Amino acid sequence: MSSFLIGSFWLLLFVGGGIYLAYSRIDLLRSTVATGSALLAYTLLGDAAFLWLILLWLAFAIMVVPNLVEFRREKITRPALNIYRTMLPSMSDTEREALAAGSVWWDGELFSGMPDWERLLSYPAPKLSDEEQAFFDGPCEELCKMLDDWDIAFERGDMPAEVWAFIKKHRFFAMIIPKQYGGLEFSAYANAMVITKLASRSATASSTVGVPNSLGPAELLLHYGTEKQKQHYLPKLASGDEIPCFALTSPQAGSDAAALIDSGVVCKGKWNGKQIVGIRLNWDKRYITLAPVATVLGLAFKLYDPDHLMGDKDEYGITAALIPTNTDGVSVGRRHYPLSIPFQNGPTTGKDVFVPLDHIIGGPDMAGKGWKMLVELLSVGRAITLPSSAAGGSQAAAYASGAYASLRKQFGLPIEKFDGVGEALARIAGHTYIMNAAISITSGAIVQGEKPAVPSAILKYHCTEMGRKVANDSMDVHGGKGVMMGPGNYLGRGYMATPIAITVEGANILTRSLIIFGQGAMRCHPFVLRELNAANDADENRGLIEFDNALFGHIGYAVSNMARSFFLALTHAKFSDVPLNTPTRRYYQNINRYSAAFALASDFAMLTLGGKLKQKELLSARLGDVLSSMYLASTVLKHFEDQGRRASDLPLVEWSVRTLMYNAQEQLHSFLRNFPNRPIAFFLRCFIFPRGRTYSAPSDELGRKVVDVITRTGEARERLSAQAYTTIEPGNPIGMLQEALLLSEQVAPLESKLRQAKKDGLIHTEYLGHQIDEAEKGSVISKQEAQTLRDYHEKVMALMAVDDFPAGAFDRGHHSAPVAAAKSRKTVTKKKSEKKIANAKKTSKKTASSKKTAR
Ligand SMILES: Cc1cc2nc3c(=O)[nH]c(=O)nc-3n(C[C@H](O)[C@H](O)[C@H](O)COP(=O)(O)OP(=O)(O)OC[C@H]3O[C@@H](n4cnc5c(N)ncnc54)[C@H](O)[C@@H]3O)c2cc1C
Repeated sequence: MSSFLIGSFWLLLFVGGGIYLAYSRIDLLRSTVATGSALLAYTLLGDAAFLWLILLWLAFAIMVVPNLVEFRREKITRPALNIYRTMLPSMSDTEREALAAGSVWWDGELFSGMPDWERLLSYPAPKLSDEEQAFFDGPCEELCKMLDDWDIAFERGDMPAEVWAFIKKHRFFAMIIPKQYGGLEFSAYANAMVITKLASRSATASSTVGVPNSLGPAELLLHYGTEKQKQHYLPKLASGDEIPCFALTSPQAGSDAAALIDSGVVCKGKWNGKQIVGIRLNWDKRYITLAPVATVLGLAFKLYDPDHLMGDKDEYGITAALIPTNTDGVSVGRRHYPLSIPFQNGPTTGKDVFVPLDHIIGGPDMAGKGWKMLVELLSVGRAITLPSSAAGGSQAAAYASGAYASLRKQFGLPIEKFDGVGEALARIAGHTYIMNAAISITSGAIVQGEKPAVPSAILKYHCTEMGRKVANDSMDVHGGKGVMMGPGNYLGRGYMATPIAITVEGANILTRSLIIFGQGAMRCHPFVLRELNAANDADENRGLIEFDNALFGHIGYAVSNMARSFFLALTHAKFSDVPLNTPTRRYYQNINRYSAAFALASDFAMLTLGGKLKQKELLSARLGDVLSSMYLASTVLKHFEDQGRRASDLPLVEWSVRTLMYNAQEQLHSFLRNFPNRPIAFFLRCFIFPRGRTYSAPSDELGRKVVDVITRTGEARERLSAQAYTTIEPGNPIGMLQEALLLSEQVAPLESKLRQAKKDGLIHTEYLGHQIDEAEKGSVISKQEAQTLRDYHEKVMALMAVDDFPAGAFDRGHHSAPVAAAKSRKTVTKKKSEKKIANAKKTSKKTASSKKTAR
C-alpha cells in the first residue's frame, strides 16, 4: 500500500508538475532546472529500477539540448530553416501587403491561448463627446424625422432634394474629416452611432452617408494625399460641394479586385492648353456607390509607363487617383437598382481620359501603392459602416418585433407567449446585443489608436450575417404584416437590403473562407509571421537567430497549449484564472479554454497542411468561426462591464455568450471531423474534447428571460435599441408600437377585469370591441375605463393594419421601365434593344441632369 502511495506521489509530481510548468508557460531554463531537480530527488529517494532511471535521464538530456543555444541553432534550427524555406506557401505582393495592414489587438490575445483579460478590461468605455452627442440628438434625429423611406424607395427612387441639402448642410459627409478642413472630426465610435441611427430608419440614407465616411476619397486623402490635394478637396468634400465615390470593382474583377484590367498609361498630352506628362486612363467599373451623382471619382487602375516618362519601371501596379467627373471622356450618371434600396449606385466608364500625374493620390511617389492604401483603410472602415448598418436595422427590428409580439394576439394570447415565436424573439434580441457589443468595443479600440484588421473582417462578416438572421426572424414574427409592402411596412425594405451588406466590402463567403482565419493566422499568431519574416531575411545570420528564437518560442507555445487545452477541458475551466468574480466569470473561463484549444488546432492545421490550408477553405472558415465566436463573446462581456453590469441585461449577455461559445465548440468539432489527417485529428480530439462536447446552447428558460427583455417596456429594452430612431410620432411606426406597448401595460388591469367578467358570465361576446361595450353596459368598467380601452384597441388595430392599393396601381406603365436591364438582356432582338437603350438613355439622362440640378 505504502509503495503504491509513494509511486503515486512520484507520478503526480512528474505528470502534474509537467502540466503545471507547461500550463503556466514557465520558461525553458526554469522548467529544465525544475525537472532536473525532481529527477535528482527521484533518483536519490525513489525506488525506481535502474533501466527506468536511465530512460528518464535520457529524456531529460533531450530537454537540456534546447538550452544550449549555439548548439541548437546550428544542429537543429539551421536544417529546420532549410526545410521550412522549401515549404513556404507562395504569397503574392497583394497578400503580403494585406498581411502588413492594421494592428494586432484582442485578436492576438485570443490566438495566444492565454488571453490577458486585464488588457481588454482596461480599455475605457467608448463615449460620445458633448459635441457628438449634440449632433446625435440634434441633426441626426432631425434627419431621421425627415426620412420617409417608402417615398424614397418606391415613389421617388432617391432621397428628396431637401434631404440631400440637409445632409450637406450639417456635414454628414464629413464625419471623418478634421475640423481644420471644415469637417466634424468625429471619433470612429460616433461615426458608428450615427450610421446605426440612420440605418434604423432608412437603408438608403445610411448607405449614402456611410460611403463618404468609409473607404473613399476623403479617407484616402487624409492618409496619403499631398497637402495640396488635401487643401483642394477636403473642404469641398466636407461642405458637400464635391460628392465622392470610390471605383474599384469592374465586371471581370469582383472579389478578386486586384485582378482589375482598368489601365492608366503614362504619356504626353494636353492639359489646360499645355503639353504635359500625364496618364491616359481607360476603365469600366460597376456597382459604384454614389457614382451616378459623384463629382470626384477615386479610381483604382493599373499604371503602366512603357516610355519610361516617370521612371525606369514598365509597370507600377494598382494605383489610386482622383478624377473630376467633368473631365473629358468620363461617364457617370447611369444607375443600378440595388434590391429596391435606391441609394445612388451605378457604373462608370472612362475612355482615353487624360489627367496630370499629380492626380495620383499622394502624387507620383504613390504610384503602385493603391492596393496597400485600400487594404490599410479597409482594416478600420470594415468595422464601422456595414456592421453599424446591420446593427441599426436590427435595433429597429428588435424594438418593433418585441412590441408587435406583445400586442398581436392569436388563440387568445399575445404571440410572444408561444415558445416558437419566443425562440425567434430571443434570437433577434441576442443577435442585436452581440452586434451592439462588437461595434461599441471595436470602434472604442479604434478610438484608442488600434487598426484592428482581423476584428474588422470578423465584424463585417458576422454583423451582416446576424443582421440577415434578425431580418428573417422579424419577418417570421410579423407574419403577413411583414410581407405586405406599403408605407406602413417597417420591415420589408430592411429585409430586402440585407444581401447588399453581405456583398459589399468583401463578399461574405470569401471573407469567412479566406480572410478571417487566413489573415488571423499570419497576423495574430505570436510566431508564424516572425518565422516567415526570418526565413525571408536577406541577412542569413540575423534570419537564423530570429528563426531560432521564433521556432523554440513556437514549440514552447504549442506544448503549453496542449497542456492548457487538456487541463481546461478536463476541469471545464473551473480553475482558470480570470480577473473578475461576477456572474459572468464562468464565461471568461470558457473563452480561456477555447482560446487554448483553438491555438492548438490552428498550429496543427498549419503544421500538417502548410500552404494547402489556403485551399481547404472550409477548414479555414471553421477555425475563423471559432476565433470570431471568441472575439464576439469577449466584446459582449466587455460591453456588459462598460454599461455598468446591469442585472437586467444579464439574460442577453448569457444568451449571447452561450450561443457563441456553443458555436465555437461545434465548429471545432466539425473542423476535427473533416481534418484530412485522421491520426492527427484523433490526437487533437484527445486534447480538445477529452470529455466530449459538453457545452450547451442557451436553455429554453434563458430564452424566455430574453424574450421578456424585448417584449416589456423597461431600461434593458431601451438600451438594446438605444441608437434606433424610436421617437413616438405618427410617421414612425416603431415609435407608435412603443406607445401602444406602454398603453398595453396601463390597460392590463382593465383587460383582466374583462377576462374575469367573461369567466363570470357577465360578458358573452368574443370580439374585444364588443366586450368593451358589454362591460361598460354591465358596469364592469367605468365609462372612462371603456374609453381608455377603446382608444388602446383602436391604436393596436391601426398598427396591425397593412396597406392596400387601388386596382391598377401596379400596372407596368405606372412605374418607369427598368432601363438598365436593356444592357444585359442580349436575347432581345437588336432593333428592339437599340430602341430601348436609346429611350433609356434619354430617360436616364433627363433624370440624372434634373437630379444634379436638384442637388
Ligand atoms: C450595392 C453594392 C455597392 C457597391 N459599392 C461599391 C463601391 O462603391 N465601390 C466599389 O469599388 N465596389 C463596390 N461594390 C462591389 C463589391 O465590393 C463587390 O460586389 C464585391 O466585392 C463582390 O464582387 P462580385 O459581386 O463581382 O462577386 P463575385 O466576385 O463574382 O463573387 C460571387 C460569390 O463568390 C464568392 N467568392 C469569390 N471568390 C471566392 C473565394 N476565393 N473563396 C470563397 N468564395 C469566393 C463571393 O464571396 C461571392 O459570394 C458594391 C457592390 C454592391 C452590390
